[in-house]
Amino acid sequence: MMMQTLDRAYFESLDRTDPLAHFREAFELPPAHIYLNGNSLGALPKAARQKARDVVEGQWGNGLIRSWNTHDWIHLPRRIGDKIAGLIGADPGEVIVADSTSVNLFKLAAAAVKQNPGRSKILSEPGNFPTDLYILQGLEHFLDGQVRLVTAPRERLLDAIDEDTAVVVLTHIHYKTGAMFDMAELTAKAHAKGALVVWDLSHSTGAVPVHLNQVQADFAVGCGYKYLNGGPGAPGFLYVAKRHQATLQHPLSGWFGHAHPFAMRDDYEPAAGIERTLCGTTSVVGASLLEVGVDLMASASMDLIREKSMRMGQLFIALVEERCSQFGFGLASSKDPEVRGSQVSLTHPQGFAIMQALIARNIIGDFRAPEILRFGFTPLYLRYVDLWDCVDALADIMENNLWDQPAYHQLTAVT
Ligand SMILES: *Cc1c(COP(=O)(O)O)cnc(C)c1O
Repeated sequence: MMMQTLDRAYFESLDRTDPLAHFREAFELPPAHIYLNGNSLGALPKAARQKARDVVEGQWGNGLIRSWNTHDWIHLPRRIGDKIAGLIGADPGEVIVADSTSVNLFKLAAAAVKQNPGRSKILSEPGNFPTDLYILQGLEHFLDGQVRLVTAPRERLLDAIDEDTAVVVLTHIHYKTGAMFDMAELTAKAHAKGALVVWDLSHSTGAVPVHLNQVQADFAVGCGYKYLNGGPGAPGFLYVAKRHQATLQHPLSGWFGHAHPFAMRDDYEPAAGIERTLCGTTSVVGASLLEVGVDLMASASMDLIREKSMRMGQLFIALVEERCSQFGFGLASSKDPEVRGSQVSLTHPQGFAIMQALIARNIIGDFRAPEILRFGFTPLYLRYVDLWDCVDALADIMENNLWDQPAYHQLTAVT
């Protein structure tokens, strides 16, 4: 790599030639903030403000119940699902917006176990995102001995998939480290042993290219409020490959998953397609705002997003090495951008207080216990110069021990 002097002017020059730079205008960001937490809660698209007004005042306030038809609320889950499908390498009719990621994971993990009878193992990795493990523990408990949850560290995961494995449930990009699984390799290995796979795409969708159908994926779930910028608590989504849809059975057989919801019959009959994974009434306001974020994401080139995100990661690591090497930081993410998602994680024993000191300057990343400082890169609204300013502030905070103040050691309910 050509040695490039890392100074603020260089980062400004990268912004000037950034083909994604104009997307920043589509977001409403508070002035003088550097937002490095879009991997946890995406920023507010400007168009969401008007959409919220239209949906609340017009569609709900004036349209009342008629809006189920006149504003097509009934087809929101499928319509937005089809748009998300385009972001993750799926076909229309394979993705639907519903519930939360946790609930969708429960539905699909249970469905996969049902689909693969006579096998007793659900396989995941230790340190997977907590809700994923908790949901699988809940399923194991509920099925009372029929299946057990087994975890294997990622170096041994491929070997741990065997003829007794019903389903492998993994998060494609790890929330703490950004480490990325080889989706194709893992899916192929699972299939060779007759196991199914559920991929959690919470940190992947809108962050990296995903090719579900190319790797012959079975099932996936994902999150609406991270890189898709759907708003706090936005509904999640799920994917079921076409070939599994006709036989898929899941435990939350609510009326929205019925073949004829408004026939009001006593007996459940699942819808033919992806709609059978629905349970109850859609969060209309939440889904409508999610659509704004999805439309924005779908209008950008995922290849350009990935290119900028990888470059940002490399530059951030280089800056931290150059400016902060004497302060005891570790790198929890891979240096290889090909196997890293859209974040860089540092470790430091005083990580919590250091992050609070950054946040006090409106430089917002987050902290994950016990000692990880996470910096997420969202190429649609983050500038290169923000990276420079962030590490500049970090160096100042470390050099002058500015993190060591009582206020920065106060634990908050949400970190
Ligand atoms: C963010 C995230 C979730 C979120 O689940 P919710 O049900 O929306 O709270 C689930 N899994 C992973 C891997 C995540 O990163």
